[in-house]
Amino acid sequence: MSIIQEKIRQAGIVGAGGGGFPTHVKASAKVEYVIANGAECEPLIHKDYEIMVRYPEKVVQGVKLLMESTDAKKGIIGIKEKNKEAVDAISNKILDSRIKIHLLGDFYPSGDEYILVYEATKRLIPPQGIPLDVGVVVNNVETLYNISLADEDKPVTEKFITVAGAVNHPVSFIAPIGTSFSDAIAFAGGSAIKKSGVFVGGIMMGKLEFDLEKPITKTTAGLIVLPVEHILIQRKNRTEQSMQHIGKSACDQCSYCTELCPRYVLGYDVQPHKVMRSLGFTLTGEGIWNQYASLCCACGLCTLYACPENLYPKEACDTAKSDLKEKGIKWSGRQEVMLCRLEKK
Ligand code: SF4
Ligand code: SF4
Repeated sequence: MSIIQEKIRQAGIVGAGGGGFPTHVKASAKVEYVIANGAECEPLIHKDYEIMVRYPEKVVQGVKLLMESTDAKKGIIGIKEKNKEAVDAISNKILDSRIKIHLLGDFYPSGDEYILVYEATKRLIPPQGIPLDVGVVVNNVETLYNISLADEDKPVTEKFITVAGAVNHPVSFIAPIGTSFSDAIAFAGGSAIKKSGVFVGGIMMGKLEFDLEKPITKTTAGLIVLPVEHILIQRKNRTEQSMQHIGKSACDQCSYCTELCPRYVLGYDVQPHKVMRSLGFTLTGEGIWNQYASLCCACGLCTLYACPENLYPKEACDTAKSDLKEKGIKWSGRQEVMLCRLEKK
């Protein structure tokens, strides 16, 4: 293990974007590209933007250190073009011709690794593969910030978070790891409503939590406070059985969920409308339809945007993936990616 890899391990760095994968393992790979993920596409979460605006030299230094560690020839920092201040701040600190910014469009989920890697390099990760399979490591910009601190022998003891939604002063700030959700919300001026629930990590891919004594961890990106009667909380709080009953009786197989699935559009064989069929089948049929969830990244677009009947295709995919995992079934469908359905048109 090199000195920087050991420093990363000693500092206790894990993927700060939510994945929590140990960073020293990624740092010990050999790749062509290091990609910094500054896409930050969860609505209302703003902490990566603040990191890039306020600590651009640390992000760029983190990219450099990871490039040295992985022997990467190129570094790419993915930032949404609309975040001009972040683009300018980072640009001013790039003094190395091997590192470039890749401007991303304002779409969701531009931070999904499969999509970000394709956008930045035009390489397609093989189905159920990881960026390493195409010579890339991807790290969130906060992870890269932490790598530059590790180089100064500073361990991870703090977390950047955004607290937004129904709070008096929505804000992004640095909190000691272990800070309770209630203290973090108090720092944002307190809740603006009496009865609330909190989406931890964002409304699209986060988890719903009501216990405000839970702590901020190394992977908490933010807390979105919403009133308990909010439609997102009502929907998220439904039991799995109830979601399945509604889906079984109401899904008309219109396939909008598939047509708007970002991974399907990119060419992967994710077909949530077929997964919905599993709700109406016996165990035998389920095995066939569940496979179409294997490559789902749980972005939530099908459930929260695409389905005209307010059904739960994303949750059907979650269940399907967990069933497949339990039974040790891996994706056995098409291995090639149908290069970008959109570009072919
Ligand atoms: S969009 Fe909704 S109704 Fe249409 S196939 Fe998907 S889950 Fe069924
Ligand atoms: S959650 Fe839905 S839209 Fe997102 S990747 Fe999975 S199937 Fe596609």
